[in-house]
Amino acid sequence: MQIPRIFVLFCAQLVLALALPSLAGAGLPRAASVPGGVALVSLGPVSARPPRAWLGEQQVLVAAEGGQWVAVVGLALDTLPGAHELRVDEAGVTRTVRFSVKPKDYPEQRITLKDNSKVQLSTSDLERVEGEIANIQRLKRHWREAEDTDTGFILPTTGRLTGRFGVRRFFNGEARAPHAGFDIAAARGTPVRANAQGIVLAADDYFFNGNSVFVDHGNGLISLYCHLERIDVQPGELVSKGQRIGLSGMSGRATGPHLHWSVVLNGAMVDPELFVAVPGKSR
Ligand SMILES: [Zn+2]
Repeated sequence: MQIPRIFVLFCAQLVLALALPSLAGAGLPRAASVPGGVALVSLGPVSARPPRAWLGEQQVLVAAEGGQWVAVVGLALDTLPGAHELRVDEAGVTRTVRFSVKPKDYPEQRITLKDNSKVQLSTSDLERVEGEIANIQRLKRHWREAEDTDTGFILPTTGRLTGRFGVRRFFNGEARAPHAGFDIAAARGTPVRANAQGIVLAADDYFFNGNSVFVDHGNGLISLYCHLERIDVQPGELVSKGQRIGLSGMSGRATGPHLHWSVVLNGAMVDPELFVAVPGKSR
């Protein structure tokens, strides 16, 4: 397909912009085959049953688009640029499909926190955090086979867009994990809404993330909403697109009230901006 990429992006943006806020399934995320991005890998013409595909051990989302099966592959921030491959199983026949990942440089950010106890952790806090990290890793790898996965997201709350995805962060001068989500500076008590339908996978209080909700959209696509003041849903609950799941706040490690929103795809944290038309932003 030799359609100019800029035209495709423009059309995708236009469709998403017109579709907001209510349309379900407004198309696939924008392709960005970079660490922290989403690769769209064609798996051939649509047939009766979708092929299944894996990146390493992790099954990946397969969707139909323009008469083709397309693997929608989440690429973790630590993915090495270069050649990668999917293992594809179609009607019992296994094959390999290659795709390439380009490098991407993310900017740096230096953050000063007055409460140093959220930077230099006590032994008991460290133990708590280690347990939570293991739990979050397990939740990120969760796979629920679903008939349809809506990848046309609405923004989960209103406010200024502050923290971009992928920024390499230093807290009080010390290097920490890159920013694996998207920050919206929503005032305390602003409703936070499910960006697409799904099932609540977990709703809990975490040391860094504060009150957090995981929504499983099916087929390895999961949203995570953090620093909530209040959680309004319970694990196992079915939520519809736009349904309130809680109120924004600044629980956990936050310098001010905001919503931190992460998107997980096949276990990888990817840039949420690829799934939405971001108002007031040019590309
Ligand atoms: Zn954040």
